[in-house]
Amino acid sequence: MSNIVFGPVPSRRLGRSLGINNIPPKVCSYSCVYCQLGRTTNLSVERRRFYDPSKIIEEVKERIKHLRESGEKIDYITFVPDGEPTLDINLHEEIKELKKLGIKLAILTNSSLIWMEDVREDLRMFDLVSLKIDAVDPNIWKRINRPHPEISLEKVMHGILDFSDEFKGKLLTETMLIRRYNDQRDHIEKLADFIEEIKPSKAYISIPTRPPAEKGIKGSIEENLNLAYQVFLEKGINVELLTGFEGDKFSILQDLEGDILSITSVHPLREDVLLKLLARSGKSQEIIDKLIRDKKLKRVRYCGKNFFIRRFEYR
Ligand code: SF4
Repeated sequence: MSNIVFGPVPSRRLGRSLGINNIPPKVCSYSCVYCQLGRTTNLSVERRRFYDPSKIIEEVKERIKHLRESGEKIDYITFVPDGEPTLDINLHEEIKELKKLGIKLAILTNSSLIWMEDVREDLRMFDLVSLKIDAVDPNIWKRINRPHPEISLEKVMHGILDFSDEFKGKLLTETMLIRRYNDQRDHIEKLADFIEEIKPSKAYISIPTRPPAEKGIKGSIEENLNLAYQVFLEKGINVELLTGFEGDKFSILQDLEGDILSITSVHPLREDVLLKLLARSGKSQEIIDKLIRDKKLKRVRYCGKNFFIRRFEYR
């Protein structure tokens, strides 16, 4: 058995997701400075055949058979490879076959080839598409995503707008926020304007959770993560942080400390909201002071108000 099919892995975006790795390691149209797979070794925009589609389908079917026998549930079959999944010329054929299995299909793409009509046609067949949008300024985009020279940001952005008009499924966006690369206020505002135009079901803002391709690359500081969150929110975007610290608890009153950390790693909390939660649970503010002392929580200012955000250990 190869490692084309993996999981299912639990994912906040996708529930229990069975992964398909349809691209060999580091064949990509980008070489993002933060890529957790290292530098791209094969920078390419040419759609081509990598694996035999029937081998992919066969492996998926076999894995699903085992999972069903052991009573395991799968929410999505997801194309999430070690490179850019839309480089696979056989994507169309693979989706057509996988649809017969009656499980929803998802894909996480870097959006770089979305200006190609045939790529948009393939993406339209998915139930869920997650688009990477890190930058809307050509210089920032080149610095952070280090694209293949044949791609232009203008074309990518047009492609994204066209796709968002045509697509009937669930559209998500993901923006990796990197310190001093794309987290300046004016850029965050332009990003939010663009993302607001495409109206995703949800826009995720993430930071690296594993060692990046290049030394010295760090996730945005809490102040700027909160800034991005608030600016997106003000534009009416349904936004969440995706930071690798989410936990799975959202039931206030049980383990209050754990709940506060879970919530603030996804949605920074305004001070008055947090104080109301404390009052409802009959706890004093000491619990917050302790989380701050323990460097688990941070108080940040935005528009004259205090917000609390989870501190992220990976820097
Ligand atoms: S698009 Fe994804 S796989 Fe490609 S370099 Fe960027 S992070 Fe890595």
